[in-house]
Amino acid sequence: MKRPYDELMSLPKAELHLHIEGTLEPELAFELAARGGVTLPYASTDELREAYRFEDLQSFLNLYYELMAVLRTERDFEDLANAYLERAAAQGVRHAEIFFDPQAHTSRGLELGTVVEGLWRALGNSEANHGVSTRLILCFLRDESAASALATLEAAKPYLDRITGVGLDSAEVGHPPVKFREVYEAAAALGLRRVAHAGEEGPPEYIVEALDVLGVERVDHGLRCVEDPALVERLVRDRVPLTLCPLSNVRLRTVDTLADHPLPAMLDAGLMCTVNSDDPAYFGGYAGDNFDAVRETLGLTEDRLRELARNSFLASFLEDDEELRARYLAEVEAYTFT
Ligand SMILES: [Zn+2]
Repeated sequence: MKRPYDELMSLPKAELHLHIEGTLEPELAFELAARGGVTLPYASTDELREAYRFEDLQSFLNLYYELMAVLRTERDFEDLANAYLERAAAQGVRHAEIFFDPQAHTSRGLELGTVVEGLWRALGNSEANHGVSTRLILCFLRDESAASALATLEAAKPYLDRITGVGLDSAEVGHPPVKFREVYEAAAALGLRRVAHAGEEGPPEYIVEALDVLGVERVDHGLRCVEDPALVERLVRDRVPLTLCPLSNVRLRTVDTLADHPLPAMLDAGLMCTVNSDDPAYFGGYAGDNFDAVRETLGLTEDRLRELARNSFLASFLEDDEELRARYLAEVEAYTFT
């Protein structure tokens, strides 16, 4: 008999909301720092792990950007991605659509090619090495200018065979989706898929704007849709997937406690929810840990857990490989809970 935790670790799932820079564990940060001759302002991994216990979004972002200094070479990005893929595979992730933040690296002097090619060294071999298929999604930092986003998209043109879509992340409030209308139009013209963070800290109107102005196919977080019944109705009708990140919501105080998370009510309302890890090194768990936490705290039934797993593959950008999607979905249906 499988233990409940192990059971959810082997439930096949796709991860659709994962920032690769947010998978940097303290041990790897120190290893990369030593290799690259970067001095971190922490005496030990334990001291750094203490710093991971931040209290709000800004203190998280400060640390998140500070630690990026250790990512300098293609090999650093390759090692970062491989470390994530290994952990994800151990938690039942069969397919991962991975966000990266080019501007966080180009702004400190790195070439975009170093980032993309480094990540691709891991992603391109991920099915063989980890049993995880992957897609790469380029995210614009919404607290940077629209012009900077456009320049980033322009710089990414040589790498579009590696990039499936674009997203929008970082500090949400005060940076509405409409600010990025032009760059999303340009991305669509290049044939890129479109997602955006909306309705995490920002109001439900940002979700509407992301759909209507940016043409997003999935909404990242989207939690605050529950405040607008007409929006919920629309999201249900149009089967718009939401990439929820329960442990992240607790750590960033989007909800007071996990027990207050609206996931069960959202599923009852018919919303197409998925469960993801966001920045797992910082928020206390990877994809399987998030599944385990919501089952444990929110009392989700096996049917609901299977629905979440099914949704993750249905919401993934596997239109270019429907055979693979069908195989994953069959695995979900065939999965037996003990
Ligand atoms: Zn996120």
